[in-house]
Amino acid sequence: MLQKSDPRNVNIKIYVGGNIVNRDEAKISVFDSVVQGGDAVWEGLRVYQGGIFCLDRHLNRLMDSAKAMAFVDIPSKSDIKKALVDTLQANGMTNDVHIRLTLTRGRKTTSGMDPRLNIYGPTLIILPEYKPPVYDNENGITVITSTIRRNSPNNLDSKIHHNNLINNILAKIQSNVAGADAALMLDNYGFASELNGTNVFTIKDGIIYTPHADACLHGITRGLVIQLARENNFTCIEKNISLTEMYSADEVFCTGTMGELTPIVMIDGREIENKSTDRILPKMIHAFEQSIHKYTEQI
Ligand code: PMP
Repeated sequence: MLQKSDPRNVNIKIYVGGNIVNRDEAKISVFDSVVQGGDAVWEGLRVYQGGIFCLDRHLNRLMDSAKAMAFVDIPSKSDIKKALVDTLQANGMTNDVHIRLTLTRGRKTTSGMDPRLNIYGPTLIILPEYKPPVYDNENGITVITSTIRRNSPNNLDSKIHHNNLINNILAKIQSNVAGADAALMLDNYGFASELNGTNVFTIKDGIIYTPHADACLHGITRGLVIQLARENNFTCIEKNISLTEMYSADEVFCTGTMGELTPIVMIDGREIENKSTDRILPKMIHAFEQSIHKYTEQI
């Protein structure tokens, strides 16, 4: 399933390095670090009811990522919030919008890897598009297991939400070739880590499980789902989950800002069959929908 762009996106305005310009003029220097080395950090945000969902959690993660990458002159959270407000207002956007927020290390004086060549400070990019949740949350999605492992902290710590997405992209290519909607990525030990762009959960005999956030991204939606599960008196446990446990789960779902909570109906050709007498996922989806108002920060 390939998502089509909403026709309203032909006239959107984008924030790049302090200016808000029409999409055709939204350009970045070839000397920018993100071109040179994917040297940038990012967040996906969703606009609901005129506000941004879990904005503070996203901006905290962006700050942590930029700090871990030793960016210099990182804009403050309030500066970024102001740029977000200005960009949404310039577009008259209040709902149904996904924002790709990117902070690059900025322009370099000459091409090269050394961050000391970055003397101009970071580049902030705010790309807001009309984009409903990307997956078919009614019928669910199919996944295959990729042979591409999710990065371990030995290689590239997934606690940094960085723009080096090659391992996820290679996994996504495998799922495209297999005709599935997404790829399940394992960690270095062979346990499930996450899908190529979302976190994963299983439900078995009334208990909700999700992989430890060692190799996977510590998703904001993942964190909220764990919190909501516990607030709604479900047991939610982080643990190593083998592929066999994925196949034999009663319910499986993935989480992310792009798609919210999405049922996974088949993994590697094995249908997910609910052998319990209960269905917990619809209750979690309901709890998530109820939480949107509470966690949407009006800006
Ligand atoms: N995993 C990966 C690899 C992602 O890129 C994302 C989205 N940025 C997620 C999970 C979901 O994270 P969040 O809930 O913060 O959107």
